[in-house]
Amino acid sequence: MDKLTTDIAVIGGGVIGVATALRLRSDGRDVVVIEPNKPGSGASYGNAGTIADYAIIPVGTPAVLKNLASLLLNADSPLSIRKAALPTLFPWLMRFAYESLPHRYRDNTSRIADLLSDASWEWLELAAEIGASDLLSAKGCLYLYQTPEAFKAAASDFELRRNYGVAQQLLTPDEVQSLEPRLPQVRGGGLFFPKAINFTDPGQVMSVMEAAAKRAGVEFVRDSVTTISRERDGVRMMASAHSIHARAVVIAAGAHSRGLALQLGERVPLDTERGYHLEFDMETPPVERPVCPTHHGFYLCPMRGRLRVAGTVELGGIGAPSNPRRLEVLLANARKVFPTLGEPSRSWMGFRPSMPDSVPVIRPSRGGRDVVFAFGHGHIGLTLAPRTARMVSSILAA
Ligand SMILES: Cc1cc2nc3c(=O)[nH]c(=O)nc-3n(C[C@H](O)[C@H](O)[C@H](O)COP(=O)(O)OP(=O)(O)OC[C@H]3O[C@@H](n4cnc5c(N)ncnc54)[C@H](O)[C@@H]3O)c2cc1C
Repeated sequence: MDKLTTDIAVIGGGVIGVATALRLRSDGRDVVVIEPNKPGSGASYGNAGTIADYAIIPVGTPAVLKNLASLLLNADSPLSIRKAALPTLFPWLMRFAYESLPHRYRDNTSRIADLLSDASWEWLELAAEIGASDLLSAKGCLYLYQTPEAFKAAASDFELRRNYGVAQQLLTPDEVQSLEPRLPQVRGGGLFFPKAINFTDPGQVMSVMEAAAKRAGVEFVRDSVTTISRERDGVRMMASAHSIHARAVVIAAGAHSRGLALQLGERVPLDTERGYHLEFDMETPPVERPVCPTHHGFYLCPMRGRLRVAGTVELGGIGAPSNPRRLEVLLANARKVFPTLGEPSRSWMGFRPSMPDSVPVIRPSRGGRDVVFAFGHGHIGLTLAPRTARMVSSILAA
């Protein structure tokens, strides 16, 4: 058993953990990241790559609540549940339903909008600092509405974003066509976020960030923390082959953070929204920017040398294997948009760390500032990584 002592330990080497470690290191702290796998190989690898500063609306809304039963029970819907997981997920679902009520939804939207307000700027800065600017694209992002009814039904969302100052343009079907000529004609219209930026290779971003962290002096330990407990002068973590003592700890283990928080006496209603992607290798993807056909609940993402089709939500916990049916539905729906798509080159499933209110947990633990929580980022963890790092840094500096 190797013994290690450090100033700060970060549990989890996803985008949240590594961005936080980098920031703490630039504050002059000694930092160790504990991660059992290649850093950035969890949810931070397989996402859609959008810096979604426009995504102020939580997953739980009054409209979703109205259709919740039919959405969940249809195994092919963009928001489905594995029936076997229902009993374990019931408490989370009850909280989710509550957080979807009008007053909670309004409050959650306001908290998310606040967190997202400078997300693009913060990423532009961080990307320049770590040498990842060439992996950024700035062609905006496009939502598609298949029918006039769907376009009309989204009017309150358009207004809400406008009220929060999100830059957006409503597009007619013809305008959608001239922006993305290879898309089939939609009858409803489009919503264009002209200032949105996106990464063209999230996995590569993680490799570049890991290398920058190592250059800055962050140490990475390949191990998985099994127990965590407070001692008189700090926090003790036991991992398979290491005993690690730190003055302070950041829990950034994504969807796996709930058990660690519980060991410190805090019950956090964290679960996972499982997401999937398919990739099609090709030189020139058929879209110029991330495009979201809203009725399918996924993004078509132009990435380096490939098209990635990423998204949808499956509630099913972190234990169950990937569900082939979800991949079949993703493929069938992707082919509804681009019928000539061949067989996918690869597929992936990952765990969004999700709170019922879609608001991440970024705060000191109730037991003290020696443990800081930084998890639960759901659909916007890539977007919020620099902001989270800044918040954790000020918590630990106080
Ligand atoms: C299909 C899909 C599309 C998405 N698209 C977007 C998007 O376009 N924009 C956006 O902003 N977000 C998007 N997201 C969400 C985003 O990917 C996540 O919110 C984000 O990656 C979460 O980062 P994380 O570091 O918290 O978690 P992770 O990347 O999962 O990292 C957590 C790490 O903790 C490690 N770990 C777990 N347990 C332990 C332990 N006991 N000890 C040590 N280490 C441990 C794991 O191995 C893992 O590497 C998407 C997600 C999915 C699934």
